[in-house]
Amino acid sequence: MTHTEQNLSSKSEALIAKENQYGAHNYHPLPVVLERGEGVYVWDVDGKKYYDFLSAYSAVNQGHCHPKIVGAMVKQAQTLTLTSRAFHNDQLGPYEEYVTKYFGFDKVLPMNTGAEAVETALKLCRKWAYEIKGIPENEAQIIVCENNFHGRTTTIISFSNDESARKNFGPFTAGFIKIPYDDVEALENVLKTNKNIAGFLVEPIQGEAGVYVPAEGYLAKTKALCEAHNVLFIADEVQTGIARTGKLLAVNHENVQPDILILGKAISGGVYPVSAVLTNDHIMNVIKPGQHGSTFGGNPIAAAVAIAALEVVKEEDLAQNAAYLGEVLRTGLNEIASRNSLITLVRGKGLLNAIVINCDEESDLAWNICMKFSEYGLLAKPTHGNKIRLAPPLVITESQIQECLDIIERALNDFR
Ligand SMILES: *Cc1c(COP(=O)(O)O)cnc(C)c1O
Repeated sequence: MTHTEQNLSSKSEALIAKENQYGAHNYHPLPVVLERGEGVYVWDVDGKKYYDFLSAYSAVNQGHCHPKIVGAMVKQAQTLTLTSRAFHNDQLGPYEEYVTKYFGFDKVLPMNTGAEAVETALKLCRKWAYEIKGIPENEAQIIVCENNFHGRTTTIISFSNDESARKNFGPFTAGFIKIPYDDVEALENVLKTNKNIAGFLVEPIQGEAGVYVPAEGYLAKTKALCEAHNVLFIADEVQTGIARTGKLLAVNHENVQPDILILGKAISGGVYPVSAVLTNDHIMNVIKPGQHGSTFGGNPIAAAVAIAALEVVKEEDLAQNAAYLGEVLRTGLNEIASRNSLITLVRGKGLLNAIVINCDEESDLAWNICMKFSEYGLLAKPTHGNKIRLAPPLVITESQIQECLDIIERALNDFR
């Protein structure tokens, strides 16, 4: 790909050169070097201010450096940071009570990253299948969806169909059946013909795939099918959860309570890696001491930070704000699309949105548009070539959304 490069300051250039020389090249970032963040804004090393329309893939729902969350982290960091789970700590129990009541589950298993939480959910599901459901050992299958994104571990990429995430990383973990996303019948067919299904792992909206929103009723119907076949409905809400889509969880739009809920990203407001697997006793109790764990999982800083981050979501009514401003944003984007044929489609829910650019996935047009957004003070990144995700922190205001719509239209008009 030939990307147009911005006129970079020598300071940015030097810092990017260091990353290129000393860091693995496993990302292709926009050429912007950030040094500070506050609320919906980030600043680069030259003092230029931007709206953050990625929010670290929805980790920063509460806004950058939220004072309450950072305050909780600093206080706990000066008191006790890590005990491991070899001993108890005074933060974990209160956090476990808080997070389980918050989401309505009996128990939580604390981990650090989203991928770890997905792995945990898969292990839990398999163990439940053998010890409670009674599937013969080593024969459990978990159904997943095409174009999923659940993280980067060897097992998780085993059931990805993103070739760049898989190529030359095999051999892969067995035990997964892939079906098309947003296809109730495909799920029903597998459930009807295969007795060894343990779980169905699904993103309520496929974020990485380009903010693909399934048809209304998909989640409720697939949950009902899982229930009928004694199969665990596992919702990966690492990206969609914590108010992003206009409700606390995306499954709440269809009044679905998953059997296993996977959270990450915004559960810490983006200040610290925290993830969680929530489920009820009849499932969680299959895990006994020594069978699963993590040195950092459930550490005192994570516990204190997550409580603060979840309190902010309620105190600041972020779900309501995301629901309302999501409508404002999509209305504005559709108006722009009616004047500019570069946008072929606007989709999303709450403040998890994407525009599809009028080009194929191999074109660098969407990248160049993001470069232009950046020039005008808004940061976003293409996903799957021709889709640009638009997902600002949920603390954004209506007048800021209007200002961002102006930036987006002005940038798009430069490509006519
Ligand atoms: C980001 C993401 C993950 C992985 O989280 P990491 O913290 O990057 O490991 C898993 N599932 C979904 C839906 C995600 O968006």
